[in-house]
Formats: sequence, structure tokens, C-alpha cells
Amino acid sequence: MSIAICPGSFDPITLGHLNIIRRTSRIFDRVVVCVMYNSSKTSPMFSVEERLDMVKRVVSKYPNVTVDSSDGLLAEYARQFEGAVVVKGLRAASDFEYEFQMNLINKKINPEMETMFLTSSGKYTFLSSSVVREMARYGGDLKGLVPDEIIEDIREKAKQWRVH
Ligand code: ADP
Repeated sequence: MSIAICPGSFDPITLGHLNIIRRTSRIFDRVVVCVMYNSSKTSPMFSVEERLDMVKRVVSKYPNVTVDSSDGLLAEYARQFEGAVVVKGLRAASDFEYEFQMNLINKKINPEMETMFLTSSGKYTFLSSSVVREMARYGGDLKGLVPDEIIEDIREKAKQWRVH
């Protein structure tokens, strides 16, 4: 059975993430979406539990996709799934540089782990969780950026973050 891991901070999950997850679920028998704590992002909008809950709701329509979380290194996390392939989305050249570097580090930790990249679908090239958080802070329309099921969660959370 082929297994893919789609890692990310998903703070919050966007239609760009979902596009990669959906496409991955068509290629692999099983997909594990892993919500990572990510220590480099100091003040997340949502707690890991909240992010997990939103991702679960959004991917529940895909029968071969499950959701998990990890506060460790991805390369260590991947060891529990034999032969699993990490699948990530690539938006721009800047993503490529970062991912290339990460891949070298991951290979050092876990040489067995392979990473594959799917290029972002054109309409989501400029979409990121940070764009969504910024839009939410200013009360912007989130339709077309995140799955409809989680728009209310973001609106509610944004009330505490609102600039005006
Ligand atoms: P972000 O960069 O939005 O904070 P994450 O850290 O959660 O996202 O990223 C998880 C994975 O999803 C990464 O591989 C990232 O490149 C990919 N990704 C994020 N947004 C998009 C998008 N709009 N299109 C394709 N891939 C994306």
C-alpha cells in the first residue's frame, strides 16, 4: 500500500493546501495529513487542537485521508510509516529554495525518506495561511481562499485579532 504524508502548519488550512491533499489522495492509496507544531512560527492564530479539528472537518469527504499531529521533526515522524513519501506543494521559486534546503536536512536525519513536490494549481499560487490571517484581521472576504466549512471559525477567531 502506498502512503503519502502531507505536512504543514495549516494555520489555517487553505484551498491551496486542500488542492494538494486532494491531488495526493488520487495518486496514493493512503494520505496522512500531519499538522506540525512548527516552532519557527511564534504566534500561531489557532492552537494545534483547533487546526486539527478544522483539517479533520475539511478532509472528511476523502475516504483515504486521515489527520494526525506531531511536535517533533518530520523526518523522525515519517519513520513510523514504512516507505511513506512526503508530498509538499510548491508555489514559487522561494518555496523551492526553502524546500531544497529542508530536504537536504531531512535526508541527513532520515536517508530513507523521500519527498515529492506537486506544483501549485495556478489560482492558488499566491495563497498562503499568512495571506488568510491578514485578510481575516482586516475583516476581508475569505470565500475562495479557505474551505467554506471553516470560514466561521476564522471569523470568530479574527475578532480577537481585529485591527479595527
Ligand atoms: P503556509 O506556507 O501557507 O503557512 P504550511 O506551512 O502549512 O503553509 O505549508 C504546508 C505545505 O503546503 C507546504 O508544502 C506548502 O508549500 C504547501 N502550500 C501552502 N500553500 C499552498 C498553495 N497555495 N498551493 C500549493 N501548496 C501550498
